[in-house]
Amino acid sequence: MAERFDEEALRAVGVRIDAEHPEGIVFDPHQPQLRVTDLSAVRGDGIFETMLAERGHVRKFAAHLDRLQSSAAITDIGIPPQDAWRAAVELGLDEFRSRGGLPDEVAVRITASRGVEGEPASDDPAFSGTYWVLLTPVTEKVKTSRGRTISVTLLDRGYDSGASERAPWLLLGAKTLSYAVNMAALRWAAKHGHDDVIFTSSDGNVLEGPVSSILLGRRSSDGRVHLRTPSPDAGILPGTTQATIFRAAEQAGWETSAGPVTTEDLHSAQFLWLTGSVKLVSPIGRIDDHSVAVDDELTAALLSFLNEAG
Ligand code: PLP
Repeated sequence: MAERFDEEALRAVGVRIDAEHPEGIVFDPHQPQLRVTDLSAVRGDGIFETMLAERGHVRKFAAHLDRLQSSAAITDIGIPPQDAWRAAVELGLDEFRSRGGLPDEVAVRITASRGVEGEPASDDPAFSGTYWVLLTPVTEKVKTSRGRTISVTLLDRGYDSGASERAPWLLLGAKTLSYAVNMAALRWAAKHGHDDVIFTSSDGNVLEGPVSSILLGRRSSDGRVHLRTPSPDAGILPGTTQATIFRAAEQAGWETSAGPVTTEDLHSAQFLWLTGSVKLVSPIGRIDDHSVAVDDELTAALLSFLNEAG
């Protein structure tokens, strides 16, 4: 069946973590691995993180592991300690090396499933679920898409700004496996001629993209730059890429703020970007019928903040 996969996907590496192999054991991700009764498959009941390993160095590893831990706390899923995840990712990167070459960029996806209902994999809650790491070389298509200007459409996420606090069972703020809605929104956008989506709350606040955070930028007449992003209490995922950019921007003397962002703010913003761990930074040139200015110099500065932070 090898011809069904493109060459790059064939080179993916999998690493499983369990109580017997807390530092991971390599598996072939192109062979069946998961029981069909696993709750990740049955209900999308699990959590994940996607990170970028550049020349073997995982960018923002600690921030991703912290967010995984926060998602685990929100969803009440037991997960292995951070050292186990680190060891498993290293094992996967070593597997590439032993096969004759570590790709310059690897997308590292770590997943924790609640496991099989009624059949904990271990008595130790930290190993009671199903845990794996999937390492896939970043494709040329993704690499060349970075920094490219995109068009987005605003789509209603269907809940209001108070939902996160009022309805914790919605798991807003956790990075769960239940991305069917996010993917449907991206298909809707593509069908209507857009590259991506910005979700809004039903009461008119700006949230995030289906797989990215949103940044607003303004350059004042004296050259000072201000970056703004919706705050995580809006019921969105706290973006690690956005946080890294903000830290570096502050060190560079830029102003940053997080708080409510309305759709009016979006339409009056001078510059806009979507940010994420693998695609990094995408300047927005159009929101539905409204065009937005693009500043290549600022986009390059955001990318270099990320590259320098490592
Ligand atoms: N928001 C959502 C819903 C996401 O899925 C992602 C990343 O996948 C982000 C924001 C951006 O997060 P990060 O910058 O940590 O990749």
